[in-house]
Amino acid sequence: MSLAQWLSDLAANEQETIDDRRYLHAHPELSFQEKETAAFILKKLHQYGITDVTTNVGNGYGMVAKITGGEPGPTVALRADFDALAITEETDVDFVSKNIGVMHACGHDVHTASLLSVARVLQKHRQSLKGNVVLLHQNAEEVMPGGAKSMVEAGALEGVDYVFGIHVAANLPKGQIGYASSYATAAADSFQIDIQGKGGHAANPHQTVDSIIIASQMITDLQTLVSRKVDPTAPAVLTFAGVEAGGTAYNIIADTATIRGTIRTLDSQVRALMKESMLRLVPHIAEIQGGQAEVSYTDGYPSVKNTAAEVDLLVKTMTRQFGEENIIKLPVMMGGEDFAYFLEEKPGAFFCVGGENKEIEATYPHHHPKFKLDEQCLHQSGQAFLALVAQYLL
Ligand code: MN
Repeated sequence: MSLAQWLSDLAANEQETIDDRRYLHAHPELSFQEKETAAFILKKLHQYGITDVTTNVGNGYGMVAKITGGEPGPTVALRADFDALAITEETDVDFVSKNIGVMHACGHDVHTASLLSVARVLQKHRQSLKGNVVLLHQNAEEVMPGGAKSMVEAGALEGVDYVFGIHVAANLPKGQIGYASSYATAAADSFQIDIQGKGGHAANPHQTVDSIIIASQMITDLQTLVSRKVDPTAPAVLTFAGVEAGGTAYNIIADTATIRGTIRTLDSQVRALMKESMLRLVPHIAEIQGGQAEVSYTDGYPSVKNTAAEVDLLVKTMTRQFGEENIIKLPVMMGGEDFAYFLEEKPGAFFCVGGENKEIEATYPHHHPKFKLDEQCLHQSGQAFLALVAQYLL
């Protein structure tokens, strides 16, 4: 058996794959509510003869299916997320969302249809596989806490040796494959600091605890976490995105103040340092002025960190498949991705397949009401996954 045969089978099924993707696009479901989407995936898997399927894995409709090869060997997991977003679609495609207010505006419909097309080919040729394939159909990528972490905790990666994930990208020209050599995304945590002072008349500051003064000190003091605490070779961003205190009156000292912001890091130790330091310092800074403060800290997804050997294999395989001119090394993307949890457990890589095409206005950013992809990325994603699996199992 050869990769060429797999790819020819994939091509033979291309129209059905496009139909699947368009059906999913027309019937999007929000994170944690993807009941019909999961039912569609299950129906397809059964139709292909894949029966080793576990449904409701983790905190929602996550699904894990296994294709057991005819000969022993490693197990490669492939992931596709399947949730949509609370956006009203404004594209002109004829398979526009029928579920008003919900839209596949991140391409997860493409991920899902593409993985199904790959599953069909691999199931057909399972006897000649030297190892196994695990299909990770993941729920709820878009909304914290996401589906990936809970799927991992429920055992989705048991017996898995490598894990790969694809994200289609509307900012990468069609035909191109993008990858990051190590960190692919940043960890994006957020916080809110609530400061309690003691309000009063602006003419009598000595009888008050000015929450605005406390907030000001906090903003300058906390910035030194980045400049003085974090290793300068490791990136960390601390942004105060909003400050609220006082009102329109010029003669009242503000009783309370609220600061909101985000912390972006790559390295997990830097991430922990930033969080611990903020939690420790904030109450002290308020106390110095006689006030109080507390932090509500929300852990976002960790950073996606690809492993070196698997990136190496990915680049070699993609170069052979699509040509060197189509393989692009990408900078770190600052958007969150819960594929990170799979890579915390197993070696592997997360990479991008381009779907940008100016001729059909597939240029809008992800999560935009006019988000669109060139469907070439649907077929290319399947080719990319099959080429990778071939490296391990043929
Ligand atoms: Mn996405």
